[in-house]
Amino acid sequence: MEISEIKQQLTMAAVLHYYGLKPDKHSRLCCPFHEDKSPSMQVYYKTQTAYCFSSNCKTHGKSMDVIDFVMHQENSSKSEAIAKAKEILGVQTEEQSRVLPSTNFLGGMYQYFKNAVHNSKSAKDYLQQRGLDYKKIEVGYNAGQFHHGTRRDEQLIAQCVERGLLLDKGQVSRTGEKAYGIFGKWCIVFALKNKENAIVSLYFRSSISDANNKHYYQSRNL
Ligand SMILES: [Zn+2]
Repeated sequence: MEISEIKQQLTMAAVLHYYGLKPDKHSRLCCPFHEDKSPSMQVYYKTQTAYCFSSNCKTHGKSMDVIDFVMHQENSSKSEAIAKAKEILGVQTEEQSRVLPSTNFLGGMYQYFKNAVHNSKSAKDYLQQRGLDYKKIEVGYNAGQFHHGTRRDEQLIAQCVERGLLLDKGQVSRTGEKAYGIFGKWCIVFALKNKENAIVSLYFRSSISDANNKHYYQSRNL
């Protein structure tokens, strides 16, 4: 990971949070790098830098970016600070994946739906009819099989039920397992992504009865 990449991803806010430092509403805080009774340090979120205005400070006169900040905080060399910055980024990524499990869930489901296109002749035929090349565009297909057989995964099923991808109708299948209705079965699936390229919603479009548009699913916020 390049320094520029770290700087792009690691915000000053995340670094301050990591070290338990809280700027006031004017983005000022008591400088952690010298004895500071009134907030001498100013944080600039626009440039992701901080500056200490005290002439008693070893950092005085130098604007600090996230890596400089970590370096002073750790009292380390620059290369050690870079390693530490990566570690902080890792912690942050883990925290995010805990906060946003739905993004991971949708990503996982969409990956499954994308793979399913390759295994489904009817999906491929449908896409071809519409001049869509599944090898070139990102598209998925819900064959309604993802919760069956060896793939039967109770946690996945519970998540799907919770989000309405599987509908619990209180039925039991021939094999004695619980049977589910499937939202968007035989639908072509498109992912709606946010600007961070994370999937925020899946859009299901029926691949059957298309002529009269009877089976048409709106986008679904899961
Ligand atoms: Zn200072």
